[in-house]
Amino acid sequence: MDDLILETKGLSKQFKGFAAVSDVDLRVRRGTIHAVIGPNGAGKTTLFNLLTKFLPPSSGTIHFNGKDITNDNAGQIARQGIVRSFQISAVFPKLTVLENVRVALQRKAGLATQFWRSEQSLHKLDAAAMQLLEDVDLASFANASTVNLAYGRKRALEIATTLAMDPELMLLDEPTAGMGHEDIDTVTELIRKVAASRTIVMVEHNLGVVSTLSDTITVMQRGSVLAEGPYDVVSRNPQVLEAYVGV
Ligand code: ADP
Repeated sequence: MDDLILETKGLSKQFKGFAAVSDVDLRVRRGTIHAVIGPNGAGKTTLFNLLTKFLPPSSGTIHFNGKDITNDNAGQIARQGIVRSFQISAVFPKLTVLENVRVALQRKAGLATQFWRSEQSLHKLDAAAMQLLEDVDLASFANASTVNLAYGRKRALEIATTLAMDPELMLLDEPTAGMGHEDIDTVTELIRKVAASRTIVMVEHNLGVVSTLSDTITVMQRGSVLAEGPYDVVSRNPQVLEAYVGV
């Protein structure tokens, strides 16, 4: 049997009778990179909003590690290990790179305890922040001001601040949006590295990135799942081709 970290059944969201997400059964296997793709308006963002409880579902269930989290609130879901990047982890432009990661770690600690008080714990905090910057290849930029970072590095910093939440399941919202080739390659490698020790679900438009990184792809159209499987399979599916290029 598959080891599922996340499973939705019949997940739906209506806005005044309009089905933005309709009866979605999503099955994400632990330790995989799972992409959600589909044309604009397919329901990808709404699906992410449901998974993080940014929006309440109209019907259906969400299980995380076998536990029903359908009725949990956004904070409970984050504490259990589902963290969405680029929503919760927006960086502060006036802080340095290191300070941004420190703030994220303090926020994580603040969720659980009032721990970061003593001198010793502040040392630990800095060491943990530096380790995260090393993990995303930003250690040499620790004291740079965030506002001056190149776009790809800013995204790496956002990933570091998300990692500070120690997520078991990381949701990435269009991680390469608006990037040139070089930054795309950097972020692709970074996602691969991050995925070595956690599960990733990402909404991504760049099909090159999707084909390179994903173990499984869910294709959505008009709120429903159109196809699911590895890239080779879904990319040959006639309905998927039609949805994408209208052939
Ligand atoms: P995607 O991320 O795939 O582009 P969305 O999830 O943003 O798609 O949107 C799916 C559909 O739901 C779209 O038709 C959009 O207009 C509609 N929708 C999204 N959010 C709302 C909302 N808050 N109120 C009404 N309609 C919405």
